[in-house]
Amino acid sequence: MSDPAPPDAPAPGRINRRGRAGAGYPSPARRRLRVFSLDPTHSRLSGSSVVLSVPWEELRPGPRGSRIAVADWYPDGSGPEPGVDLDDRDLLAQDGLAPDESDPQFHQQMVYAVLASLLETLDQARGRRLVWSNVWRGTEGPPVRPLTVMPHALSIANAHFSPGVGLSFGSFRATGDLSSGLFPNQWVHACLSHDIVNHEAAHAFLYELRPQSLEPTGLDSIAFHEGFADIVAVLQHFRLPGLLEGQILRSGAAIWQPGPFVELAGEFGRGAGRTGALRKALDDTDEPTPFTEFEEPHARGAVLTAALFEAFFGAYTTGITPLLRVAGIRGAGSNPTLPQELVGQVAEQARLAAAMVLTMTVRAIDYLPPVDITFGDFVDAVVCADTDLFPEDRIGFRRSFVEACRRRGIVPASGRPAGRRPDETVARQLDPLPTRQALMIATRDLAGWSVSRSGRARSAGQLERSWQNALRGWAGRNAERLGLDPEAIELDGGAAGFRMNQDGFPTAVVTARFTQRNRKAEADFGDRLGGVPLVGGVTLVGEADGRIRHVVSKPVPGVGVAGGDALERMLDFADRSAEASGVPRGLAGWMHALYDLAGMH
Ligand SMILES: [Zn+2]
Repeated sequence: MSDPAPPDAPAPGRINRRGRAGAGYPSPARRRLRVFSLDPTHSRLSGSSVVLSVPWEELRPGPRGSRIAVADWYPDGSGPEPGVDLDDRDLLAQDGLAPDESDPQFHQQMVYAVLASLLETLDQARGRRLVWSNVWRGTEGPPVRPLTVMPHALSIANAHFSPGVGLSFGSFRATGDLSSGLFPNQWVHACLSHDIVNHEAAHAFLYELRPQSLEPTGLDSIAFHEGFADIVAVLQHFRLPGLLEGQILRSGAAIWQPGPFVELAGEFGRGAGRTGALRKALDDTDEPTPFTEFEEPHARGAVLTAALFEAFFGAYTTGITPLLRVAGIRGAGSNPTLPQELVGQVAEQARLAAAMVLTMTVRAIDYLPPVDITFGDFVDAVVCADTDLFPEDRIGFRRSFVEACRRRGIVPASGRPAGRRPDETVARQLDPLPTRQALMIATRDLAGWSVSRSGRARSAGQLERSWQNALRGWAGRNAERLGLDPEAIELDGGAAGFRMNQDGFPTAVVTARFTQRNRKAEADFGDRLGGVPLVGGVTLVGEADGRIRHVVSKPVPGVGVAGGDALERMLDFADRSAEASGVPRGLAGWMHALYDLAGMH
């Protein structure tokens, strides 16, 4: 299941973990930690580091918390480096260690702080606390565990997320000249870049919610992962204290002007010998290039990122124009020096718009199919998820996003600019989804309560298992109506959460995903596919009473007419990537063929 509830949280502390009875003081709500701004080079050149405020939790040395466990192994397998103890009195009193590129314990602190801040943002956007369970599926140990983070695990200019392993970051010596802002031969650490840490963690987040999303089923599937990870990383810039205000001041509120604010991983890109940052949230040319021109996943994903940010900058401009006008300024970029008070107001508008776009992006995941996600699926998902809550397109964001996509050749999978219509006909044929246990889990998460039944608290695990059983029963009864085989249908996951709708009422959204694998065709075409599974399936989006609003399906490759086309497309894709790379087929060969290996994953 993608969403088991977290273990019960301990009562706020009277006894701390070192076993000492406290004096009854209230627990702190936040922890403050010093970090570099963007990356060490940016901090040095701008003369600033920042303090991140993250939710309080007790930490063991590492730091090891409930969702993040830093384990500092070296590439040769030695280690781990002793973990920093952020609960030490001396560090608590001075916001952690001071930023220092040469102190591995500071690296551990920074990677923890950046990740804790990101998880808070993603939880707020999703309306639910994320737990890591799919990333650990199939491994030994407890089913729900913190994500392992290894800040020095690689000796190359790279970083990656691997299911069952966690996040690994690399270090390398800079090759750029002095004009890059770096010193020749200087160490560059990926774990000290906000962008790289956020990008990799966003991969893990998307995988946790869509555990079959990393299969190389087509050009879009992995490119979508890359685009999503970049979108999340750039939107986190808005949360960094002072960075946004600096960009507003420099650009006269035209925050889209080129610079670190709209770029990704400046130090890393230049240190690896590029002329600029690794990627950016803008198009390279005035007239955007169609996404089909790009096969390399990061470059293809960057087109989706650029489309989203074009719509974002539109929403932002709409929001700040009245403010600028009142101050006698014609528009963004027309007056380079804004008064300090206005900078604060503009920053607030920008943060509101960024939070809205992140929320829309994260909510859209619920509306994505379980497998073979395309850019067109994402456009539909963004539009539908938002329309369900806000029937009116208040600031025209949906319209401008669809238009920004169209200009780049990205078309909604439904073919409708207004997104998929709620599927009344199919919904009438299907039984209502079982939702009782899911709503209990979501309520319990939301309120931090134990939901009790007949006076006895039921554990999150019991509720979870009971819901899974109910969903499997539902699948058996409804599979044929969904065009799936009752004997072969599998539960992929599901979740429930509450969102505020246009009228300010909490609205429950319950989702369930079922998949079906064509093992016979996998055996028949095994040599050509190189291990890529042939899976189709369906995502159902329902309401609190189980009524189904949306059915988002992907054909099972090799089954039926649409499935036949899907199989042909996947085989063709596998052949092409194998030809291009000359290496074995499957994920490894595909990555060799398409990935720009100088880029980060
Ligand atoms: Zn990536």
